[in-house]
Amino acid sequence: MSELKSYNVIVIGAGPAGYVAAIRCAQLGLTTACVDMWLDNGKPTLGGTCLNVGCIPSKALLESSEKYHEAQNALADFGVEVDNVSLNLKTMMDRKGTMVKQLTQGIQGLFKANGIEWLKGHGKLLANKQVEVIATDDSVTTYQAEHIILATGSSPVDIGIAKVNKDTIVDSSGALSFTEVPAKLGVIGAGVIGLELGSVWKRLGSEVVILEAQDEFLPMADTQVSREALKQYKAQGLNINLSTRVTKTEVADNQVTVHYQDKDGDQTLVVDKLIVAVGRTPNSNQLASRDTDLLLDEGNFVHVDEQCRTNIPSVYAIGDLVRGPMLAHKGSEEGIAVAETIANDYPSTCDLDLVPSVIYTLPEIAWVGTNEKELKAAGIEYNSGSFPFAAIGRAHAMNQTAGFVKILADKTTDRILGVHIIGPAASELITEAVVAMEFSASSEDLARTIHAHPTLSEAMHEAALSVDNRAIHKANRKKKKK
Ligand code: FAD
Ligand code: AMP
Repeated sequence: MSELKSYNVIVIGAGPAGYVAAIRCAQLGLTTACVDMWLDNGKPTLGGTCLNVGCIPSKALLESSEKYHEAQNALADFGVEVDNVSLNLKTMMDRKGTMVKQLTQGIQGLFKANGIEWLKGHGKLLANKQVEVIATDDSVTTYQAEHIILATGSSPVDIGIAKVNKDTIVDSSGALSFTEVPAKLGVIGAGVIGLELGSVWKRLGSEVVILEAQDEFLPMADTQVSREALKQYKAQGLNINLSTRVTKTEVADNQVTVHYQDKDGDQTLVVDKLIVAVGRTPNSNQLASRDTDLLLDEGNFVHVDEQCRTNIPSVYAIGDLVRGPMLAHKGSEEGIAVAETIANDYPSTCDLDLVPSVIYTLPEIAWVGTNEKELKAAGIEYNSGSFPFAAIGRAHAMNQTAGFVKILADKTTDRILGVHIIGPAASELITEAVVAMEFSASSEDLARTIHAHPTLSEAMHEAALSVDNRAIHKANRKKKKK
C-alpha cells in the first residue's frame, strides 16, 4: 500500500474555530490541511456557519433593516426629511451575498498565503490519527496527521413538531433569505437568534409573533437587563409571548397554523412564515469511526478538557462542537490556544469565564462575567454601580438613550466580577470590560481611567464611579460617610 499523504495538523471544519486554528498552526510552522464540506450553490466555500449563514449575513440584514427603519421613522427627528422611503429587498439580499462572498474569499486568500491545503469534502476521524475525506464526486482519500483538530460546528435543532420545509417553515438560514417580507411571521424561540431575526423582519414590515416556552425572558442575561430588553422590544412592536409552548404545526395554502399552549390553554396562530429558532446541536454525528471511541458528553458535544483535548491522544476539539457558549469568537480563541499547545508543546487555554456575549438587537445587549443572580447563588458579596445612557451626551446626539451599563465588583477586593450593558454600541463597549477583567482590574481602575468626551464609553466610566457611589452625572444612592 502506498504511503498516506501526511501533515503535522489536519483540521476538520473551516468555520471561525477551524479556519483560525489552521491559520495559527501554519503561522507556527506546522504543515496544515483543513477539510470542509460546505457548498454554496454547489461550490465549496470556507467560513462555516458564521460567514455563510450566521454572524455575518445576520449582521448585514440587521444593519440594512436598521437603516430602512431609521429612514422611515427616525431621521426626521434629526432634521433630515426623507420622502417616499421604499424597500428594495433584492438589493439588501444582494449586498448581504456580496459581503459573504468577499469575506469567504478572503479566507481562501489567507489559506493560500499561509500554505494551508484545503481538502474539499466530508472529513471523518479514523483510528491511528488518520482522516478520511469523501469528496463531492464520492472519491475517498485517507490522510495521516500528527495532530487532528475537530471543528465541525453545529446545526439548527430540528423539532418534529415544526419540520423545516425551507418554504413556509424555515430555520435561521432560511430566515436570512426570504425573497418577500412575510406579512405575518411567527418565531419559535426567544433566544438570541430568534430575537435578532425577529427584529430584522419586524423592521422590514412584518407583524412578528415570538413564542417562547420558558417563563423567564433571556434567563442567561442579568435580570435587570432582560427586563429592560423586554420593555424595549415590546415598545418596538415585537409581540413576545412567554410561557407559550408550541405543540404542533400544520401547513396548508402557503400558511402555517401553529398550535401552542399558554396559561389560557390551547391556542392557534396562523402565519405566512415560521422561523424555528430553538437552539443548535453539535455536528458530532458521522464525525468519527466507531473504533476511535471518541467520547461524547450529554447533548452530543465532543468531550474535552480545559485544553480542548479529547479522550484520544493528539486529537483536539473546539468551537460549537464542544462545551461553552456557541459563539464564533469563543471557537476562534480555542483554535489559537490549541494551535499553540500543539506547536509549543505547552498547554494554552481559552478562558471561558471571559467570553463576551452579545445580542445585536436595538438596543444591543452585551455582558461578560457573572450576573447578580449568579453572585447571589454563589454567596459572593458584591457592590453594584450602574449608569443610564439617558445621562450621556453622545447617546442623546445619536437619539439612542435607552439602557444602562452595570458593573459588579467584589465587595472586599473591588475586583470586577461582571459587566452588563444594554444600550447603543454595547457590542463595542463590552470590550473595555473584557480587557479590564483580563487584567484583573478593580472598578477603581476603570473609575480612574480617562474616557474621551463625548463618547458612549463615559457610561462605563460613570458606572465604575457609581460602584463607589460617586458618579458625577447622576444623584448617588447615599452620601459617603467620612
Ligand atoms: P461552524 O461555523 O458551524 O463551522 C463548522 C464547519 O465545519 C462548517 O463549514 C461545516 O461545513 C464543516 N463541517 C461539519 N462537519 C464536517 C465534516 N464531517 N467534514 C468536513 N467539514 C465539516 N456567533 C457570534 O459570535 N456572533 C454572532 O453575531 C453570531 N450570530 C449568529 C447568527 C446566526 C443566524 C447563527 C446561526 C449563528 C450565529 N452565531 C454568532 C454563532 C456562530 O455562527 C457559531 O458559534 C460559529 O459559527 C461556530 O463556529 P465553528 O467553527 O465551531 O462551527
Ligand atoms: P436558544 O437556545 O438561545 O437559541 O433559544 C431557543 C429557545 O427556544 C429557548 O429559549 C427554548 O425555550 C425555546 N423553545 C424550544 N422549544 C420550544 C417550543 N416548542 N415552543 C416554544 N419555545 C421553544
